[in-house]
Amino acid sequence: TTTPPDSIAAMAAPKKKIAVMTSGGDSPGMNGVVRAVVRTAIHLGCDAFAVYEGYEGLVRGGDYIKRMEWHDVRGWLSEGGTLIGTARCMAFYERPGRMTAAKNMVLHGIDALIICGGDGSLTGADKFRAEWPSLLEELVSKGELTKDQVAPYKHLNIVGIVGSIDNDLSGTDATVGCYSALARICEMVDYIEATASSHSRAFVIEVMGRHCGWLALLAGVASGADFIFIPERPQPQDWREDMGNVVTRHRSLGKRKTIVIVAEGARDKDGNKITPEDVRDLLADKTEDGLGLDTRITTLGHVQRGGTAVAYDRMLGTLQGVEAVHAVLEATPDTETCFIAINENKIVRKPLMEAVQDTKKVAAAVDAKDFEKAMSLRDAEFSDQYFSYLTTTNVMVGDNKLPEKNRMKIGFINVGAPAGGMNAAVRAAVAYCISRGHEPVGIHNGFAGFARHHGDKPLGAVRPFNWLEVDGWASKGGSEIGTNRELPADSGMDLIADLIEQYGFDALFIVGGFEAFHSVSQLRKAREEYPSLCIPICLLPATISNNVPGTEYSLGSDTCLNELVNYCDKVKQSASATRRRVFVIETQGGRSGYIATLSGLNVGASAVYIPEEGISLAMLNADVNHLKQEFKNDRGQSRAGRLILVNEKASKVYDAKLIASIIREEAHDRFESRESIPGHVQQGGAPSPMDRCRAVRLAIKCIQHLEDFGCHAHNRVKKDPNSTAVIGIQGSDVVFTPMKDLEERGTDWPNRRPKTAHWLGLRDVVDMLGGRPDYPRPE
Ligand code: ATP
Repeated sequence: TTTPPDSIAAMAAPKKKIAVMTSGGDSPGMNGVVRAVVRTAIHLGCDAFAVYEGYEGLVRGGDYIKRMEWHDVRGWLSEGGTLIGTARCMAFYERPGRMTAAKNMVLHGIDALIICGGDGSLTGADKFRAEWPSLLEELVSKGELTKDQVAPYKHLNIVGIVGSIDNDLSGTDATVGCYSALARICEMVDYIEATASSHSRAFVIEVMGRHCGWLALLAGVASGADFIFIPERPQPQDWREDMGNVVTRHRSLGKRKTIVIVAEGARDKDGNKITPEDVRDLLADKTEDGLGLDTRITTLGHVQRGGTAVAYDRMLGTLQGVEAVHAVLEATPDTETCFIAINENKIVRKPLMEAVQDTKKVAAAVDAKDFEKAMSLRDAEFSDQYFSYLTTTNVMVGDNKLPEKNRMKIGFINVGAPAGGMNAAVRAAVAYCISRGHEPVGIHNGFAGFARHHGDKPLGAVRPFNWLEVDGWASKGGSEIGTNRELPADSGMDLIADLIEQYGFDALFIVGGFEAFHSVSQLRKAREEYPSLCIPICLLPATISNNVPGTEYSLGSDTCLNELVNYCDKVKQSASATRRRVFVIETQGGRSGYIATLSGLNVGASAVYIPEEGISLAMLNADVNHLKQEFKNDRGQSRAGRLILVNEKASKVYDAKLIASIIREEAHDRFESRESIPGHVQQGGAPSPMDRCRAVRLAIKCIQHLEDFGCHAHNRVKKDPNSTAVIGIQGSDVVFTPMKDLEERGTDWPNRRPKTAHWLGLRDVVDMLGGRPDYPRPE
């Protein structure tokens, strides 16, 4: 065979040297970024370096800039903070400091720098890049470097990744670390709620966010807080009066606890700081103007930064790290400096300085008390969630009500297995319905419950919601209205159609997984025969398997991924004494390899086996040989065992137990192998904040979608395919897809999953980062 000319050129070209650095405040997930950059760079034939201690390391040079090998970053995904250190560096603010940094980069031969940090770090990076030619010129003119030395480094190639717990950078939906911080906050709020409720107390909880209220806002939405204070949106009038009204109303409805979340940077409409003490004083005030509640303050502080990264941050850091290396290699002198963002579910490159400037504009707008502008500069999710918060907390008041004739009776059903976020979705949709004057009605225990217990007294299957009860569901796992796998046709379509007519439902809101999808499909097809089914029906996908056509994300899948991350970390660590052990972990997921693959990405699996691909003897052989090689080369760097993830339906023959036995047999005592089956643990306990927040946001959108059709819209419902729709996140958008399109074109019915798996490309990333060998994949 002849080598193609491109490859010869590539072989002849000097190796690129790519350095990665973490800077500013540390955030969980930064280690995932470093691991991904190092391994991707090496995989693509480059040399990888780490700059220790942020810009300080760049200015100091020497040992602070270290060559990184493949094994140096083993196990880093499950470590919190940043293992290469970070610092605030005064010297880098000044030109002489940056000049020394430039010199050190040239001396180490670094071509490109990937920086993971906040907006300050990225501003510094852009300044560095802009000055670069003049810095080199000056270094030459001062005789510190020669012309020849600087010749290969005409342009500085920089790519940013936003690592910050605040989620304060414009242009990206999430920063690496923000969902971990949110998870820590919500966990603490959940703990506090129990004691607050026991003593009927009020708690004022201060969370981080000097200029950005994202953490406070999302924590408020996820935990169903009574009131929040964020910098971007002070109360338009008197916050004391507003908060007093809300808290008094909630208490008068029977609530025993009051939770108020205050962002560090909270202020009133005049720009005066609102402190937790101010809030407490009002809540605790026993005079006539006050609320007289037993009130405590909890400041969460650095707990929010701590701990290991949640599943989402591992995924985000890893994918952004991989993308950053590609961006570096594809950049030309004319390419604008970019950073790696995520919009909904899509990793994208965006101009760095624009984002930094927009971010600064938010702070400026807040300072100028132009709060409309501050809100408009935040992303779409932020204003959606602000609306969610207002809706769920101000249920009983406001001028949001629709005219009487447009108010609908909406039936709520959960179908399939429970998934994290189902209750949060129902709670938010109920609150939204009440705020609009609709009548939300719970249909308990799925279609089976509807069909068999509709008339039962006193706890029939069809019951109006009690606001107080539902309000406590924000953080609850499982399904409070009960769920069941039975399809409407199995319960009897005659009966279901008849019941819908009897109860006079104007619309149905269904939450569930593939069975729910199938149910909606049956209802749609039965419309011809049963006019009572000509009502708008909307499905909000919720299943840990994430196998519902029409969306790349289902409620509950994030909770499941977090459970698996925790499980795998523990299992892996259990081997730290023996070191030489491979765990074969069986995941759920039906015939979709989504959770196995994403978990593989999040824990750094050596191999992942999925139903989309099957398992062949050749694969097992290659993987066993790979493991043998790995253990042979392991000179004690690895502190824990290795993991293989296998989906429960990847193969009819090779299950986790058999794979573990094969590995054990082939290892000839050089290493051990065990199977490990987490089972229903994967459904999770308390749903993750991401599942809760997305549940709220998407559920409200679903009801708005139903509302759009209004009551008695039989004719429009018949004509408009969107009258039976699935809400979903697709790429960077939230969309409704007509059921009919999905049934006909998007669904692999026998395998109960979408025809195209949006995540399938991630399998290659898992393999690449796990160092898995190439071998022919089964068709
Ligand atoms: P966080 O979100 O945690 O605040 P950050 O990256 O914004 O992270 P900063 O302290 O603002 O944190 O910046 C980190 C480092 O980046 C600084 O210590 C400094 O070395 C460098 N840096 C920040 N802003 C600039 C700037 N305008 N010019 C040059 N360097 C800067």
